[in-house]
Amino acid sequence: MGLRLEGKVVLVTGAGARRGIGRAIALGMAREGARIAAADIDPGLVEETAAAILAGGGQAVAIRADVALAADVRGMVEGTVAAFGRLDVLVNNAGIAPIKPFLDLEEATWDRTFDVNAKGVYLCSQAAARQMIRQGTGGRIINVSSISEIVSGRGLTHYSATKGAVRNLTRGMASELGKHGIAVNAIGPGTIETDILNYLPQADQDRLRGQNLHQTPLGRLGRPEDIVGAAIFLASDEAAYVSGITLFVDGGQLCGAG
Ligand code: NAP
Repeated sequence: MGLRLEGKVVLVTGAGARRGIGRAIALGMAREGARIAAADIDPGLVEETAAAILAGGGQAVAIRADVALAADVRGMVEGTVAAFGRLDVLVNNAGIAPIKPFLDLEEATWDRTFDVNAKGVYLCSQAAARQMIRQGTGGRIINVSSISEIVSGRGLTHYSATKGAVRNLTRGMASELGKHGIAVNAIGPGTIETDILNYLPQADQDRLRGQNLHQTPLGRLGRPEDIVGAAIFLASDEAAYVSGITLFVDGGQLCGAG
């Protein structure tokens, strides 16, 4: 089999974090022949992602952008097109998960979580879809959602509300953009060992790691690399007729303990 994403231009948001899901997807897609626009709010980290792809013989450009700001998002799509001439796949990966018990939740935390996790998906998807429609060759949008789109966790009410919004953004966009040849899907990771877990107090992180040995059917926390295959599939020709789904990649976590 040849490279599954040969020649495709992929924009990945939140691709800076060193052991994050976005960087793993960017590197994995580059290995499949995609040209990568790696975007993140942190310019230094995203330069590292692009450098790692270039060092592996791939093509990449680094772009600083806050997905919650319309002007940044416009610049991010323009930067991608300036570098590679087109945009075929958007991966909406940027996200935050500040932990706050519902009764202590302040408005600012609610607003920022929605701005990044939900508004960011709207802004990036609209800008990318408009570019894809201009090109006239269709495209793919892949939203990194969460199992939290259907279950919540302690201190995560606002976060799971954003992922519920992503679930229905995915379906609404799939419905409206299909006529332009744009397929829209989501990936729903279970608990993955990334720095996003640092939002939790250390004791909770330890408890989670211990629990997962027992509560996840496959007996471990996920790793960023566990998400890469689903992302490549949803971007590839093999998924040409898949739209509007969430593909859960959670080691069976949603099924409960065995
Ligand atoms: P991560 O390691 O924290 O990576 C997220 C990246 O997004 C970071 O580089 C972060 O920068 C960046 N970012 C944050 N706000 C941004 C903004 N406004 N604009 C652009 N970039 C921004 O987290 P992750 O675990 O890889 O999470 C990636 C996605 O997976 C998120 O959507 C998350 O909700 C989802 N997810 C994660 C898990 C999990 O257990 N890890 C489970 C289910 C779903 P900063 O570090 O500077 O904030």
